[in-house]
Amino acid sequence: MSSPSSAETFPVSTPAAAQIFTTLLSQGPLTRLEVGRRAGLSAAAVTKAVRPLIEAGYLVEDTDEDARPAPGRPASLVRVDGGRALFIGLKVTGEEIIGVLTDLCCRILLARHLPLPAPHPEAVLAAAGDLVQELLTEADGFGVRVAGLGIAVSGDVDRSEGVVRYSPFLDWREVPLGELAATTTGLPVTVDNDVRALTVAEQWFGAGVGLSDFAVVTVGAGIGCGLVVHGRVVAGAHGVAGEIGHVTVDPAGPPCHCGNRGCVEAIAGDAAIVQRVREATGLEVTDAAHAAALAHQGVAAAREAYARAGEAIGRGIATVANLLGPERVIISGEGLAAYDLFAEQIREAFAEAAFGSAAQCDVQTRPLPFEEWARGAAATAIQSFTGSHPR
Ligand SMILES: [Zn+2]
Repeated sequence: MSSPSSAETFPVSTPAAAQIFTTLLSQGPLTRLEVGRRAGLSAAAVTKAVRPLIEAGYLVEDTDEDARPAPGRPASLVRVDGGRALFIGLKVTGEEIIGVLTDLCCRILLARHLPLPAPHPEAVLAAAGDLVQELLTEADGFGVRVAGLGIAVSGDVDRSEGVVRYSPFLDWREVPLGELAATTTGLPVTVDNDVRALTVAEQWFGAGVGLSDFAVVTVGAGIGCGLVVHGRVVAGAHGVAGEIGHVTVDPAGPPCHCGNRGCVEAIAGDAAIVQRVREATGLEVTDAAHAAALAHQGVAAAREAYARAGEAIGRGIATVANLLGPERVIISGEGLAAYDLFAEQIREAFAEAAFGSAAQCDVQTRPLPFEEWARGAAATAIQSFTGSHPR
């Protein structure tokens, strides 16, 4: 097993160098000229940053014989050597931990699921330790060391301290997960909010590639939102940003677990939909899948609950669009399974509440399985390792 004491340092010392590496990671292979253009940096800055990374084997140069800018001077393409380091990403839900082993390019090499007996911190830590151990054993077969572990948890997460301040779905408060997991696994650990982690993966490899301003909205147990502004994933001054789930859309609406009324989540979260269908039908609705099944069978009260949820989500997205003007909003999350039940209402409410040209924002849906969230967690570990996350 790797230990933090044996960890080598990544040869990047400036924000510009980190940006060049990230550009190559998400958009490479590229010529030096093109990296500089996309990162908005000079050729001299690119040359200076690339040299030590090639020497250390994190970048490789391929000579492309077909792209000669001048006779006798082939333009060489620079790319990240994915096999140079491995990373582990974990996504914690209330029921299971999903773990992935990735390479430095954040490509998933292996994925594992481990059910959780209970979501309390001790049980999660024990299961995470087992899962990491299993993935480290598998990593031995690749002959490359694991350079970092990323853990994605829902709720208010302080990444810089590695502390989960408050996770309503896990019922955690002030859990120093980073420190505990580092002791258990011996790896450098990055802990981040799960939607923010997913947003990093979308920015690097998904529907956000090349966009400077976009948002990821997740629907399901909670309603989450990750924001990218001027090319950076926003964490906010207190680690809470993009809490679209707690935007008030109906001040007279149902109470929310946060203490307010009529939040998007209090209308459109799984528990809110289940509760509403239960009250309206008198049926013992067990979970969101059951509520969706009733709606698909044509039960009017169930259909109405989803319509109302869609309206709340659409208004929440319009609030994001009006405040930040993203080029694109990507809707994802396990709640997409019922998307046909509220897609129309989301679009209508969004179009109605979006101001002026904010309505031109491209709203897309993207089903992303939990492995992609775990991949996002690995991406946060890669950010920490490569120094591409501002401290
Ligand atoms: Zn709330």
